[in-house]
Amino acid sequence: MNNVFAVYGASGCGRSLMPVAVEQLQRLYGDDYDAKQLVFIDDALTVDTKVNGHVAMNYQRFIDLQPVNKSVLIAIANSQVRQQLADKLTNDGIALWHVQSERTLVMDSVCIDSGGALSPFVTLAANVTIGKCFHANLYSYVEHDCIIGDYVTFAPRVSCNGNIHIHDHAYIGAGAVIKQGTPDKPLIIGKGAIVGMGAVVTKDVPAGAVVIGNPARPLNK
Ligand code: UDP
Repeated sequence: MNNVFAVYGASGCGRSLMPVAVEQLQRLYGDDYDAKQLVFIDDALTVDTKVNGHVAMNYQRFIDLQPVNKSVLIAIANSQVRQQLADKLTNDGIALWHVQSERTLVMDSVCIDSGGALSPFVTLAANVTIGKCFHANLYSYVEHDCIIGDYVTFAPRVSCNGNIHIHDHAYIGAGAVIKQGTPDKPLIIGKGAIVGMGAVVTKDVPAGAVVIGNPARPLNK
C-alpha cells in the first residue's frame, strides 16, 4: 500500500464529504480501490475507531502510517482551523487533497487551488479563480468571472452570481444569494465577512462584517 488518503474531521462536514472521497477514489482506481486506503483523521480520538465503516485515528497515528504518499482533505467548516491544519500538513510534506463529486459541474477556464471540497450538484461556471481549501457545499454555484480567495466556505445552496470577488476566510450561509457585479465594479465580500443564511446581498460587504436579511444589512444595526 503506497498511497493513503484521509478526510480530516470526522464530524458533520467530514462525514458528508467521505462518500464524495470514496466515489473519487473509485473513479480513479476502479476495481483496485481498497477501502483501507481511505481513513478519517480526528484529533479528538485517543484510540483508533470506526466512523461510518471507515477507520478513524488521530493525526499522530496517521503520521505513523507507513505509506509514503499521503493526501488529506481537510473537511472542517471553520476556516481558521482549515488554515492551521493546512499549514501543519504542508510542513509535514503531506499533500492537500482536492475532492469533488462526479455530480459537480466544472464548466470552462476554472482554476482552483489545492484542498478544495466540491460537494454533489455544485457548479463552477466560466473564468472562475478560487484559492486554497475552498468548501462548496451541496447545490452551491459560482457564476462567471468570480475570484474567490483562500479558505472560503459556502454552506449549501449559495448563489454566487457573476463578477463577484470574495476575499479570504469569508463564510457564506445556506441559501444566500449574492447579486452580480460588473467587470469594472465587481461586488466584493471582504476578508472574514459572514453572510447569514438566506441573506440577499446587494452591495459590498466590508471585511469582518456580519450581514443578514433581505436586503442584507449588518447584524448590529
Ligand atoms: N478537529 C480535529 N483537529 C483540529 C480541530 C478539529 O480533528 O485541530 C475535529 C474535531 O475533533 C471535530 C471536527 O474536527 O470532530 C470538527 O467538527 P465540528 O462539528 O466542530 O465541525 P464541522 O464538522 O461542521 O466542520
